[in-house]
Amino acid sequence: MNPAKTGMSRGPAALAADEEPRVQAEVQGAAVRQLIRGGPFADGLTLGWVGAVIAASGLRTFWRLRVGSQTPSAEEALRGVRLTVAGVGLAWGVGAAAAIPALQPHEGALILVVLTGIIAGATSALVSDRRSFRYLLLTMLAPLPFGILLQGQARFNVIAVVLIAAFAWGMDRVHRRANRMFVERVRAAVLLELSTQELGRQHAYLDALIASTPVAIAVLDDRRSVRSVNAAFEDLFGYAAAEVVGAGIDGLIVPESLRSESTDLEARVRRGEIVRVEVERMRKDGRRIQVRLSAAAVNAAADGAVVALYEDISDRKAAEEAMRAARDLAERVARARSAFLANMSHEIRTPMNAVLGFVELVLDTELGTEQRRALELVRTSSEALLTILNDILDYSKIEAEHLELESIPFDLPKVVHATATLLAVRAREKHLELTVDVPPDVPQIVRGDPTRVRQVLMNLIGNAVKFTEHGEVDVSATVAGYHGDHTSVRFRVRDTGIGISEQQLATIFDEFTQADVSMTRRYGGTGLGLAISRRLVALMGGALTVTSEVSRGSEFSFTLSFTVEAVPPAAARAAVSLGGRRLLVVDDNETNRRIVRDMLGAEGMAVHEASRADAGLEALRRAAGARTPYDLAILDAQMPDQDGFELATAIRADGALQQTRLLILTSAGQRGDGERCRELGIQAYLTKPIARADLVEAVGTVLAGTASARGAADLVTRHSIAESRHVLRVLLVEDNPVNRQVATAMLLKRGHQVDVASNGREAVDAVARESYDVVLMDIQMPEMDGFEATAKIRALPQGRALPIIALTAHALSGERERCLARGMTGYLAKPFKAHDLFAVVEGRGAQPADTAVTRSPAVDLAAFRRTMEEAGAAEAVDGILETFVSTLPQRLEALVAAARDSAAEPLQRAAHAFRSAAGTIGAGHLAALLEEMERAARDGDLATARDKLQHVRGEAQAVLDDLRTATKGG
Ligand code: ADP
Repeated sequence: MNPAKTGMSRGPAALAADEEPRVQAEVQGAAVRQLIRGGPFADGLTLGWVGAVIAASGLRTFWRLRVGSQTPSAEEALRGVRLTVAGVGLAWGVGAAAAIPALQPHEGALILVVLTGIIAGATSALVSDRRSFRYLLLTMLAPLPFGILLQGQARFNVIAVVLIAAFAWGMDRVHRRANRMFVERVRAAVLLELSTQELGRQHAYLDALIASTPVAIAVLDDRRSVRSVNAAFEDLFGYAAAEVVGAGIDGLIVPESLRSESTDLEARVRRGEIVRVEVERMRKDGRRIQVRLSAAAVNAAADGAVVALYEDISDRKAAEEAMRAARDLAERVARARSAFLANMSHEIRTPMNAVLGFVELVLDTELGTEQRRALELVRTSSEALLTILNDILDYSKIEAEHLELESIPFDLPKVVHATATLLAVRAREKHLELTVDVPPDVPQIVRGDPTRVRQVLMNLIGNAVKFTEHGEVDVSATVAGYHGDHTSVRFRVRDTGIGISEQQLATIFDEFTQADVSMTRRYGGTGLGLAISRRLVALMGGALTVTSEVSRGSEFSFTLSFTVEAVPPAAARAAVSLGGRRLLVVDDNETNRRIVRDMLGAEGMAVHEASRADAGLEALRRAAGARTPYDLAILDAQMPDQDGFELATAIRADGALQQTRLLILTSAGQRGDGERCRELGIQAYLTKPIARADLVEAVGTVLAGTASARGAADLVTRHSIAESRHVLRVLLVEDNPVNRQVATAMLLKRGHQVDVASNGREAVDAVARESYDVVLMDIQMPEMDGFEATAKIRALPQGRALPIIALTAHALSGERERCLARGMTGYLAKPFKAHDLFAVVEGRGAQPADTAVTRSPAVDLAAFRRTMEEAGAAEAVDGILETFVSTLPQRLEALVAAARDSAAEPLQRAAHAFRSAAGTIGAGHLAALLEEMERAARDGDLATARDKLQHVRGEAQAVLDDLRTATKGG
């Protein structure tokens, strides 16, 4: 390998080995040159044997001339030298040997001196070739002993010969040493020459390397002056190398304002640090550029050199800057968008509130059929509009990642049931069976976002109803697993509808996508529902999945994990006691029955139905016979065959049915009806259509009173409800005049007194001045907003415990929590329905969200204890309860297993056994349900019996819960 190419330097040993032949050659060459240049014989010419010597010298001269004109090889040259030297030596030696015998000893000695002189000179003249010298020595000295000994064997002669031999040996040693030194010297000179050449090559290589490096490089000396730069430096900064070398780097490329920083950097470099920074530097033309500067001290250089590398990063910086600007812009846009959304929400909801509110108010008045139809249309259209608006808002919020989930305790089974109930009307219109299954092992109170769970369910059930023409829609929530204090619940909505094709399944979750364009016309919709649902489910930590088969139906499901919350103790739950009360609805019209069932079922009543008067009477008698009489019967006034009043007459005529209170619903009120009711012992008389709030309140009032005797005066009517209602003094704080009017009209119509304030300051003054039962407080108001006003009211002595309900048009998530955190008691989102408003104002809905769980105790423990005490067996109570609790799961299982049997008899037996156990401990409702089941089984009506299973399960769970809290509590 060529060292010049690799740029690497090599050790001298390797060099010497490599170059040995050359060295030899050089040494030989030098020797030959030296030999040719001079010799003892070229100019020495002495006494007797002049001829021979001249001949030898002539020969040698001739040879030298020849060699001078040509360039013989080293071997040839050496051979020539040796030959001529031997020739000259012979001429001298033989000549001397021939002359000596004829000479006087002192003359001979003189010759010897001459010869030794020549030989001594030859040690340097022939220093480069041992052999030439030896030839000379041999040829010159070897003949002499013969000449000397020819003079005679005198002691003197012998000594002379010995001396000559010793001289020859000595001179040979001298020559050997001189030759060795000569070779060494020449070799050293050659090596020096070679490494000088190598060094030059390496230098050139490094220079080329630096010059062609694409990174700008400058080498600075200890005074920050440029010592050298490469071509890239010239390109980058626009200077020629000649301009910069020797100049201070600061003056060349460092902007004035950055010089002190640059000095600091240099100091760091001098301390041994390798500095890498991104800085600004200046070109010769004054343009600023962004560079990445890497600098380090050159360790090998004692003179304090520093090498600095500059990489141009202007492009990268520009790209970064552009990206930053784009991000800032996007953030600004997102902020503007969410502000716009909040505003739009507010702006649209406010007029919608007026529309919906007034429509509801007008619908409550006497109207012609046409008018009512038109207004109903306005209402449904407005509600549809609001739904679409909410969808779009939701979607935008999810998009902008502004949707925050709430985390509050709520009643999960109730949310599922209530959502399904809301859509039951639509299902019924299409004659679809809508079933809801929430087994008792599903935790009741969980922590999560009820609004969003409801929204997703609403969407899925809504779609299922929308896309199903025949068959059923099944909704279920079942436990999928337990993880610590978390329970996963699997929600499932299954339908027997048109189904979704494989290909369409891929896109239905995309926004604004509907499976089939023709569908839009047929079914309507925005195509946002599933997109929102899927994202909401994902936000809540689940995944919305679907399986479907065209014309067989679809199944949507998702699983969410909830923290389970403790169920509030029974005492707290018993505030309103419609829950668990038994109700029989007798009406020939299925829709009417369903409406009542939905309204009161949602309040927790156990609702049963009869479609004819005689069937109703029969049901009442059966229940009374089983000692589980109905608490209330709602009778339709207009029925074929036997109307409500006739039925009421029959009921009151039966002594066994006196416990059951009666409520008549009529769609055509007639003069004198009230009187008739009083006479018949009917407790309430209401006209259809009836608002949910009114029905609930009327039923509550009726159940709170006693089953009054015939002729009693206190008939509950629409008017008496309004009159008897506890009149509340309400302070309505609202800046929007339309909203103020809507709420005021609703509340006044309900019989409450209303004062209005149009901002927070007025509200605080009003509370300080007057005493109120409840404050309805708008949040966004001029002068002083709702939060500030609330804080000020809370600071007043009369405001500390005052219920303050937030009214807000912001449908943004987290609003409820925000209101509660700011000291408010409840929350109502605009637009609101009248019964929602009444519920919060009258304190029925003022608790945070869905936690208002209201039920009457499922077990009458006190009665059980009393009975046992009377029987003198009070100490057995706990044991019996324990046995009941521990055997309950088996009993339920046995029931479920029996229900699967095709024969009725096992179910009848299982229900009977369970019923007597439940009856014993005072679980009246459970016993009644089981009895119905038992009877249905006995009558061979297995379907009805099986239908009860669900209720039995729910009620059994309630009994268990009650028993647990009761035994825990004491
Ligand atoms: P929308 O119902 O407003 O059209 P969705 O996002 O809720 O929008 O649904 C998107 C599409 O998915 C619907 O248009 C329909 O084609 C299809 N789809 C949704 N649910 C069902 C279902 N249960 N059965 C059949 N098709 C359905």
